Amino acid sequence: MVDIAFIGLGAMGSGMAASLAKAGHRVRAYDLMPDSVAAAVAAGCDAAASVGEAVVGAAFVVTMLPTGAHVLDVYQNGEGVLAHAHPDAVLIDCSTISVEDARAAGESARARGILMCDAPVSGGVAAAAAGTLTFMVGGTADEFEKAQPILQAMGKAVIHAGQSGAGQAAKICNNMLLAISMIGTCEAFVLAEKLGLDPKAFFDIASQSSGQSWSMTSYAPVPGMVPTAPSNRDFTNGFAGALMLKDLRLALEATHAVGMTASLALKSEEIYSEYIVKYQPNRDFSGVIDMLRNQ
Ligand code: NAD
Repeated sequence: MVDIAFIGLGAMGSGMAASLAKAGHRVRAYDLMPDSVAAAVAAGCDAAASVGEAVVGAAFVVTMLPTGAHVLDVYQNGEGVLAHAHPDAVLIDCSTISVEDARAAGESARARGILMCDAPVSGGVAAAAAGTLTFMVGGTADEFEKAQPILQAMGKAVIHAGQSGAGQAAKICNNMLLAISMIGTCEAFVLAEKLGLDPKAFFDIASQSSGQSWSMTSYAPVPGMVPTAPSNRDFTNGFAGALMLKDLRLALEATHAVGMTASLALKSEEIYSEYIVKYQPNRDFSGVIDMLRNQ
């Protein structure tokens, strides 16, 4: 049994903290939202009243926060993770943030002799709740080895991507592809509908044909196909369109940094920007199908 501080109990963090508690770890959970802390307690965690209270004495500190600005603030502010972490603690940030911010967080930890790895996830809310996420980890071999057992309690695959920041590099490339593939999947469903095809018949065919993708078979944007997909709950409690847009922008920043043009990523950025204005920023990204259907 290991003491773990868990900070950020939102759509993803709530399930991840619960998986750690279920695996027998002592988890001290903190979020700005008291209701989220109460839900974590109901799932077997202990409540912490601040970042500091969660972190003091913990062997591992897991963060699952919206953006790089949140992560750097929670790490570096005077009442934050670095001010309270034990020198032997291992910090694991699972949020999706820029490679640059991940490296900055890692450097500020290592400057204090504390190990840190970036370990963003793939899999969505259902996988977070089921403990079947995929983790892509950036850090030294030692950091990876130490973080691995904790990540394994929350996931089905834990992969060492390379040095600090490499987990985030893998994540933004993956999500650039997901952003594009979801729009393609939505357009195919809309065209199928307009051609008079039964959506279930199209799903059964495409999910076993060359149009198959994760967007289709694990996260279908049409209800009644994949029970855990947000399309069955009016696109609530999924992966917010605003967060997908954030990831896409991180990918586009990276394309600029390396001097490449990714035209489908650019077009997708335009589409999700319009989507979060026309609908709700919190609405799941696969709900973009409604906007595409009504165009
Ligand atoms: P979310 O907005 O549901 O949760 C973030 C939580 O962080 C919220 O509960 C918020 O109150 C809390 N928070 C913010 N600032 C805080 C602070 N200073 N101290 C304590 N708590 C604080 O977001 P999410 O969907 O859980 O996503 C978290 C990260 O995971 C993001 O970087 C996202 O891009 C990534 N991600 C999300 C999904 C998904 O399907 N939702 C999938 C893969 C990766």
